[in-house]
Amino acid sequence: MSRLGVSAAQVGRQVVRGDVDIDGNRITAVGVLPAGRGGIAVPGFIDLQVNGFGGVDFLNADVESYRRAGDALLSTGVTSYQPTLVSSPEKVLHEAIDTVAAAATRTHPRILGVHLEGPFIDPAFKGAHDERYIVAPDIAYADRLCSSGRVTTMTIAPEQPGGGELLDRLVRRGVIVSIGHSGADATAAHSAFNRGARWVTHLHNAQRRFAARDPGIAGVAMTRADVTIGVIADLVHLSRETVLLAFLAAPGRISLVTDAIAAAPSSTGEFFLGDRTVIVSSGAARLADGTLAGSLLSMDLAVRNLVELGIPWPRAVRAATEVPARLFGRPELGTLRPGTPADIVVLDDELRVARTIAAGQVAWAA
Ligand code: ZN
Repeated sequence: MSRLGVSAAQVGRQVVRGDVDIDGNRITAVGVLPAGRGGIAVPGFIDLQVNGFGGVDFLNADVESYRRAGDALLSTGVTSYQPTLVSSPEKVLHEAIDTVAAAATRTHPRILGVHLEGPFIDPAFKGAHDERYIVAPDIAYADRLCSSGRVTTMTIAPEQPGGGELLDRLVRRGVIVSIGHSGADATAAHSAFNRGARWVTHLHNAQRRFAARDPGIAGVAMTRADVTIGVIADLVHLSRETVLLAFLAAPGRISLVTDAIAAAPSSTGEFFLGDRTVIVSSGAARLADGTLAGSLLSMDLAVRNLVELGIPWPRAVRAATEVPARLFGRPELGTLRPGTPADIVVLDDELRVARTIAAGQVAWAA
């Protein structure tokens, strides 16, 4: 057994004063007195949308690259993630999915599964996706992509012809369906959520705009208690006010994602997102035509950005932990309680990552 030496721990919605004990890969006690002085323990961050990190692009990665990306993610407090693959040729997707399966044998950070962002999206809202690889909803193709069992989330445009049937199929397969890169209006969005879609991919980005009498996906998602909303809080994809508005409208339902690319967290120059060249400068990643192409965000910075906007830190942390864990169906990964996995981030007074503990082991320390 070991003791973390922290002064407090986030346990569900409460911050409990006292230290944390772990034994093996489990937490055995919280609120242990006397409290330590070495920061605050919060659950390990969960990133359900990340295209690459630490110089690694997941569409082009081998198993060794996943090790490097994983170490870089651990340094930002991420202990669980879904590698995210944008619309690409089928062969490339199959190879990338197979690589995830091989990489997932490593213990930490946990690879929860694959998030396929596309290829069944609306070309009119393609964002940085390559239009050549976007296809109409195709159940046979989706079945082939999902046949390995590694695909856990898929972003689709449900309003496309055949999109409803595709959605039904994915829900039956147990895949989390997210609406994104989509022109769905409010009626189509309600219909998709009623059929089992549960998430929104990067709120307000690459989707039909919110308007007074046409609130679209964003307006519907913010009003429905059964929908979780992905937000890129890099303050590039969304303005400060837009991020705050989402938190005010949908408390407890915002899941932070980084949508990071290989250049994250801190490189500049030219990088790849699949086979597309992305130019990184001034804190943004863009295609040559200026379209935003993922982010340079890290999860710890996303949390600090929220706090800087005035959101209390425990709520900001929950958007990176409890909310995505619940959406993913692994609530035990999003809280610190006796019996839950010892995936823990120790934050200092400025909410910087001091230590990351994954499956009970110190996986990174400042
Ligand atoms: Zn996207």
